[in-house]
Amino acid sequence: MKKIVFEKEKCIGCQACVSVCPAFWEMSDDGKVNLKEGVEEDGSFTRVPEEVGCNQNASESCPVRCIHIEEDNS
Ligand code: SF4
Repeated sequence: MKKIVFEKEKCIGCQACVSVCPAFWEMSDDGKVNLKEGVEEDGSFTRVPEEVGCNQNASESCPVRCIHIEEDNS
């Protein structure tokens, strides 16, 4: 299984991820984005999706590289 890890602190709110992967990413009124159904963990947000899908694109599109696709070892 793969896990999406979002370091929200680094997000600059450019919305590139929202453009390529709106099913998972949405703009927030704090000027950053939210990972839909993300669970906060040590200041980052994580979610284990059924399919990584467009999150791979979101990760590659992010100019500050704050979206990571990692192995889920839990
Ligand atoms: S692409 Fe990266 S910096 Fe831009 S809004 Fe998404 S998470 Fe934030």
